[in-house]
Amino acid sequence: MCIRKIVLSLLCISFPAVPAFAENTPLIIEHGPRDVKKVALTFDACPTSHHDEYDQQVVEVLTREKVHATLFMSGRWVEKNEERARELAAQPLFEIGNHAYWHPHMTAKDDERVLRELRGTQAIIRKLTGKRPKYFRPPFGEVDERVAKLAARAGLTVIQYDVASGDPDPGLTPKKIARAVVEDAKGGSIVVFHMNRNGVHTAEVLPGVISGLRKRGFELVTVGELLKSGVSDKVVRGKRSQDQARTAK
Ligand SMILES: [Zn+2]
Repeated sequence: MCIRKIVLSLLCISFPAVPAFAENTPLIIEHGPRDVKKVALTFDACPTSHHDEYDQQVVEVLTREKVHATLFMSGRWVEKNEERARELAAQPLFEIGNHAYWHPHMTAKDDERVLRELRGTQAIIRKLTGKRPKYFRPPFGEVDERVAKLAARAGLTVIQYDVASGDPDPGLTPKKIARAVVEDAKGGSIVVFHMNRNGVHTAEVLPGVISGLRKRGFELVTVGELLKSGVSDKVVRGKRSQDQARTAK
């Protein structure tokens, strides 16, 4: 097991349905409560070297199908796509999250740089859209306890995922991606896709993913909505102490 996985297993709690930064809030969240029929689709807007790094088709499918989703935007992406970022933030279906500024390997950067990435992106999003993101998706899914604590200092909870669509992989066929996401999703799952044209087949697979998940009875919600879902503080504390007991072994 790599160090990252060990740290993750110590930090990740599965039932984070308390407001961000309450005493018991976990630093890193991989999924929501398992006893709700809700799934959160998330879309990362990483900066790329492409001329056009906005996947209009992805947004069109989400809008047409009225899918609530969380969009994690890098500060640099927002600066290069100001008008689009503003439109997306104004769309009630979408929740906007923070995806760092330059999209670096955060665990390799010192505290000051990590905070600059997080706070700088918060400021850019706030200034442009009036929204203050509550959630941070680490670039490359790389996070450790130090970065997660720095994120908390910047007012952010780290949101990972328990279902990776694999959409940037050109070796995966659309059929394979759609089937895997629909079959792997559980109650409370957080699924990661891309909306920056990094996903080879994202727009193509989305209609099948959306209808497949809805057929399984899942409501598609934002991360914020997922984490509000009906788990009492008592259950959260109980679950937390069980997790701590298990990981302490
Ligand atoms: Zn990214």
